[in-house]
Amino acid sequence: MTELSPRIDSLPKAELHLHLEGSIQPATACILMARQGVQATEQEVRRRYTFGNFQEFLEAFKWITSLLRDPQDYALVATDLAEHLLTQNVVYAEVTLSVGVMLLRKQRPEVNFEALLRATEPFERRGLRLRWVFDAVRQFGAEAAMAVVEAARSCGSNTVVAFGIGGDELQVPTAEFRGVYDRASELGFHRLMHAGEVGGPEKIREAIELLRVERIGHGIAAIQDPSLMDLLAERKIPLELCPQSNLRTGALARQLARHPVQIEDHPLPVFFRHEIPVVLSTDDPALFDTNLRSEYAHAAHMGLQESELEQTCAMGFHYAFQPSSQTGTP
Ligand SMILES: [Zn+2]
Repeated sequence: MTELSPRIDSLPKAELHLHLEGSIQPATACILMARQGVQATEQEVRRRYTFGNFQEFLEAFKWITSLLRDPQDYALVATDLAEHLLTQNVVYAEVTLSVGVMLLRKQRPEVNFEALLRATEPFERRGLRLRWVFDAVRQFGAEAAMAVVEAARSCGSNTVVAFGIGGDELQVPTAEFRGVYDRASELGFHRLMHAGEVGGPEKIREAIELLRVERIGHGIAAIQDPSLMDLLAERKIPLELCPQSNLRTGALARQLARHPVQIEDHPLPVFFRHEIPVVLSTDDPALFDTNLRSEYAHAAHMGLQESELEQTCAMGFHYAFQPSSQTGTP
């Protein structure tokens, strides 16, 4: 693997596609399990973090969310994530919370959110600004997604910057979420969606045209559709790219229709040179055994030059929803 230059490594970075639940390191998972009276080793958790395909990844993600039962659990994992981000020179992050899953488990998102805000606020003094994305689960449908938007509203915090949808993009037609995104907009939330991760390029186009999504989660299916790549470049709609995630979930092999694939097969350099904005992220760093430094090293390995890596860092801030000149206070 290509070494990252010390200059790129030391640049402050923003991370915009990062799930709190996917950042739970095995050691922390063991603590959460112990809170529930279950003794497990890190090795056992690591075995849970292996998957052969996208469905198995969704199962692993579901399992890890089952460890989060009360507000203190959220506080613990948010603190761990904040410490981890500081080791990566991350100074700004938009962290996705699976509020759809909290609601499914009959938890109160407002109470969980309050606990994790209180736990992470002290990190502002250490130079880390965290903002939050409330995420619905696509396969739970539009009504459940609307409940996530309403939860974002009732948290009443301007640190919640966006509403998004993740999960299984092959389920539920995109158009069914129109009203949900209209409501999110009306309440002042930015609009995000995972699209073109395992689904085809039409999922990306629908997210843009039907839901006016502002950044696309993954969007690697765009590689199959040159006119869509032109559209993304013209409208400056960023793709949140997470190479290691795409490799580990099998999404990259699926989009390229070949097997096996390697990290250097990722379309990131093609998108970059097509002048599509890209923001580089880890998605679920613990589940995929990655971190932001590694993702920049991957980009270098794919052939991005020093100046291109520097531009990639800059785009992370440029396409953030609450740039650092603003000081959002909860
Ligand atoms: Zn994601």
